[in-house]
Amino acid sequence: MKILIKNAAVINYDKEEKCDIYIVDGKIVKMREGLKEEADKVIDASGKMVLPGLIDIHCHLRDPGYEYKEDIKTGSRSAAKGGFTGIVAMPNTKPVVDNKSVVEYILNKAEKESVVHVYQAGTISKGLEGKELSEMGRMKEAGIVAVTDDGKPVMDSGLMKKAMIYADMLKIPVISHAEDLTLLEGGAMNEGFTATCLGIKGITRAAEETMTSRDIILAKTTGTPVHITHVSTKNAVEMIRTAKKQGVKVTADSCPHYFSLTDKACEGFNTNAKMNPPLREEEDRLAIIEGLRDGTLDMIGTDHAPHHRDEKNCEFDKALNGIVGFETAFALAYQILVEENGFHIKDLVKLMSYQPSNLLGIEGGKLAEGKKADIILIDCSKDWICDPDSFVSKSKNSPFSGWNFHVKVTDVIVNGKIVIENEMFA
Ligand SMILES: [Zn+2]
Repeated sequence: MKILIKNAAVINYDKEEKCDIYIVDGKIVKMREGLKEEADKVIDASGKMVLPGLIDIHCHLRDPGYEYKEDIKTGSRSAAKGGFTGIVAMPNTKPVVDNKSVVEYILNKAEKESVVHVYQAGTISKGLEGKELSEMGRMKEAGIVAVTDDGKPVMDSGLMKKAMIYADMLKIPVISHAEDLTLLEGGAMNEGFTATCLGIKGITRAAEETMTSRDIILAKTTGTPVHITHVSTKNAVEMIRTAKKQGVKVTADSCPHYFSLTDKACEGFNTNAKMNPPLREEEDRLAIIEGLRDGTLDMIGTDHAPHHRDEKNCEFDKALNGIVGFETAFALAYQILVEENGFHIKDLVKLMSYQPSNLLGIEGGKLAEGKKADIILIDCSKDWICDPDSFVSKSKNSPFSGWNFHVKVTDVIVNGKIVIENEMFA
């Protein structure tokens, strides 16, 4: 298959250029102006931005075990609709991904059913129990790109230290879900004014911050890297900033909901705003934005966490944590970071494509000759209103229903194959 993209305004993390892109058998063969190569398909990108496909370091595809919420096929299509051409699935499935055979099952299924590149994370501990290390080495042979007990923290500091040393030997990142379970005390949302008004028990920021500091200290002590995921508090951002200045090998991500919402979204007992870590307050939201601006937070992950309607349509305390994220992530990043906070579109490419590919050691993150053709086209003057019922994801648990966005992913090419053309799946 030969594709020629004409009149592309190409945005990489380090430069913008106007050129044509010629793709042959999945690879970008030529990138320059005035190409007249013969192609099976010509795409006119006039008026659109052309970006490397987005890469999500953190999502839940729920497959195997919870296919009523999402599966590899629907999850990958939802990702593509949001402009993601590569996604990292968290291992808290049923069975959990703590051994080679589950990794093989998922990657084989993804090979057949996914429309984007699916990368798998393995667990840190067997059975996500936080007691013994999983079969990391064998899972690495089977293809995992990271280890994490996401959904649960590794409470045992000794085990976390061993995991960091071992993962470093295997050259894969350890992704830390930083939360001290002993500090939750039955809370269901951020501790603060809104929780008090609603009469809901709050979760102290200290639950996230004590674990963030522990993992930074372990990284410093061992000299090995750690990646802190879904950072949500101002203090956690400050701790990571200080650690980086000291040369600690810590990287971090935050999610679109933490820079676009506060705990006020929980008003009216809105369970679609219930997540873990919980939505915080305005000063935290602003700190996340500054962290993304100055590079303290290296990247944006979605934490796409689909749930069935019945798991959200209940009392706030009982509702499950998480929101769907793929289909709104880029629009939110553009609206909050670019339009409202003066980020450049190149910064989004860095945060949502280049940095994740770099950390994970996977292809992508940049459009250049010789690179894999994972490409997205963006229309920057397309108004649309978020309607979760129109999501491709099986689940609709989004707090962004009714939001008005101004930017849309219109075309998605994965491995040189057109997955979405003019907003329609091929
Ligand atoms: Zn998590």
